[in-house]
Amino acid sequence: MIVVSTVDELRRARHTLASPLGFIPTMGFLHAGHLGLVRVAREQNPSVAVSIFVNPTQFGPNEDFASYPRDLDRDLHLLAEAGVDLVFTPSVEEIYPPGFSTFVDVGPIAERLEGKSRPGHFRGVATVVARLFNLFQPQRAYFGQKDGQQCVVVKKLTTELGFPIDIVVVPTVREPDGLALSSRNVYLTPVERVAARVLSASLRSARVAFQKGERSGEELRRLIQSQIEREPLAKLDYVSVADAMTLEEVDRIEGPVMVSLAVRIGRARLIDNEILG
Ligand code: AMP
Repeated sequence: MIVVSTVDELRRARHTLASPLGFIPTMGFLHAGHLGLVRVAREQNPSVAVSIFVNPTQFGPNEDFASYPRDLDRDLHLLAEAGVDLVFTPSVEEIYPPGFSTFVDVGPIAERLEGKSRPGHFRGVATVVARLFNLFQPQRAYFGQKDGQQCVVVKKLTTELGFPIDIVVVPTVREPDGLALSSRNVYLTPVERVAARVLSASLRSARVAFQKGERSGEELRRLIQSQIEREPLAKLDYVSVADAMTLEEVDRIEGPVMVSLAVRIGRARLIDNEILG
């Protein structure tokens, strides 16, 4: 496995890799969710590359950029075991040299849901993804459904900026009790960890109601909200039942919708979603 941390080294290493290249951008502190993306990429491509970069531009001023968990040695070990060919571990200055001022803004879909709670978040995501796509020039890139809105944003910027890259969305990997794996789960105390089940449990209730014929977006939002409110350690940030493409809230479910929520539990802000229909 080649490990590089500068753009020049990356460009040289990229030329040695067979095409098609599958690329997985991450912020590190890897878990089975990330490794699931690597496994799918490994199956579909002769070469696989991963970036590990905690991207400062996608964090708000009062968010956890400084304290975001990091363990590069462990990450590199896991990626080598998973058969990754190339890992890029740039510094902030390597991605954003002094004077950097070009940003990618994908418009209204980036201002809903996560974008509303975290202003500027998707501008940071879209910018770093575009920058990494240009550096790696992969044929396929892999993203987790866990970050459902991110998948929509990345697909849109890929189409509209004309990157010749297939975006592959991989299903969310969960703990046995339903909690979506996330690097931020380490923030949870044991009691909070138990409480955190409420996210996936409430999504499951929404799915059951949908399967029984419920088609009112408002009813599903209310159902999820009432379950979160019954968990004393959980504080609901938002719940949404939105068109899966435009992310606009829907009254009546007639096509695919993304049911999503963000919840604070202790120090952690957790998100989860499910596609219905
Ligand atoms: P992150 O390191 O949190 O930026 O995540 C890197 C990639 O892994 C993103 O495409 C995430 O959506 C994906 N990912 C994170 N957690 C999971 C999970 N539990 N299941 C599937 N994909 C995930």
